Amino acid sequence: MVSGIGPEDKLQSLGIPVIAALSGVGANFSDQPGFGIGYPVNVSKQHQLYSNATYAAEAQETFVQNQTGPLTAFGSNYIAWEHFPESTYANLSSAARAELSNFPADWPDIQYILSGVGIVSNMTGNYIAVGVNLMKATSRGCLTINSTDTAVNPVVDVNWLATSTDQQVAVTGVRRARVFADSFGVISGPEVLPGPSVQSYADILAYIKEAAGPSHHVVGTCKMGKPQDPGAVVDTQCRVLGGIFGLRVVDASTMPLLPPGQPMATVYMLAEKFAVNILSGSSMETAYCIGYFTPGGSLWSRTRTALVSSHDKIMLLLLLLLFQQEVV
Ligand SMILES: Cc1cc2nc3c(=O)[nH]c(=O)nc-3n(C[C@H](O)[C@H](O)[C@H](O)COP(=O)(O)OP(=O)(O)OC[C@H]3O[C@@H](n4cnc5c(N)ncnc54)[C@H](O)[C@@H]3O)c2cc1C
Repeated sequence: MVSGIGPEDKLQSLGIPVIAALSGVGANFSDQPGFGIGYPVNVSKQHQLYSNATYAAEAQETFVQNQTGPLTAFGSNYIAWEHFPESTYANLSSAARAELSNFPADWPDIQYILSGVGIVSNMTGNYIAVGVNLMKATSRGCLTINSTDTAVNPVVDVNWLATSTDQQVAVTGVRRARVFADSFGVISGPEVLPGPSVQSYADILAYIKEAAGPSHHVVGTCKMGKPQDPGAVVDTQCRVLGGIFGLRVVDASTMPLLPPGQPMATVYMLAEKFAVNILSGSSMETAYCIGYFTPGGSLWSRTRTALVSSHDKIMLLLLLLLFQQEVV
């Protein structure tokens, strides 16, 4: 945006010369918001690193001496994905079911992350958290700027859980996580977060809104799409639209939709694919400018960028033949 590519109104409001008016820059901000429920357990967990200074010191010593022990593990070592069973889907509104049916049949609704650290860090003892992350989040936020200085942080509106569908899936996720946790066999007491008294839809949703945080899996703010899509920023070769020549965005921001799970592998795939395409020249760009004088005497001109393909070459030849001397 600071370079002049983005929503026209925003750029103009900051006095940035508009090089390409692309309203999709910064829009379609997508993450997999998450929250967790917590339980005491009767097994030793890394949670004690927060609350037990002796345990933390021993863990540090073990790691320094032998490179073993609790500090060798990330803490959230088990991940599971669930596509809700049909009986669970039946409890969602028909509008939510219709919206969710837009996803492929094997796309999970929820990712559960079992964690031995974090969620109740101010409590002594052993605790686990079952993290619940939305894999089909339908809410979209946005990212923008309020300064022409790149040292000033951008402004982000995450807009999580804005849709009724997301809210219903989130509440259902907590209820499913409770069933899941009941089967562990290591739970040693009542749920500590949000707690057994939090049972109604409204109470669970209020807890979720309070507890929700990022997955740090943001995508979508320079989304790939067809040129006729007003929200698209890059084409299918990651080339920036809007008449820009020779500029690509190849990173997570180009994913129009956040794949379920962790995005890093998809980022690697994207980078490798377009590195190969660029090096092999299979998606090279060409640019040409056509201009002719209208009967009124004014100059009409257009700049075009396109793939170097036989189709493009034929189109160029046709244009030249049609306009003949008028072509400048
Ligand atoms: C805390 C955290 C944990 C995560 N855990 C996982 C995980 O377990 N698994 C997983 O799959 N994904 C994980 N992710 C997500 C994953 O890291 C991102 O999806 C991925 O890194 C995005 O890749 P990217 O190339 O789009 O952007 P980035 O990896 O952010 O790369 C952008 C690069 O551009 C550089 N840069 C920025 N501005 C400029 C500038 N002006 N000039 C030059 N360089 C610049 C930055 O320094 C950075 O190196 C995690 C993310 C976070 C934040």
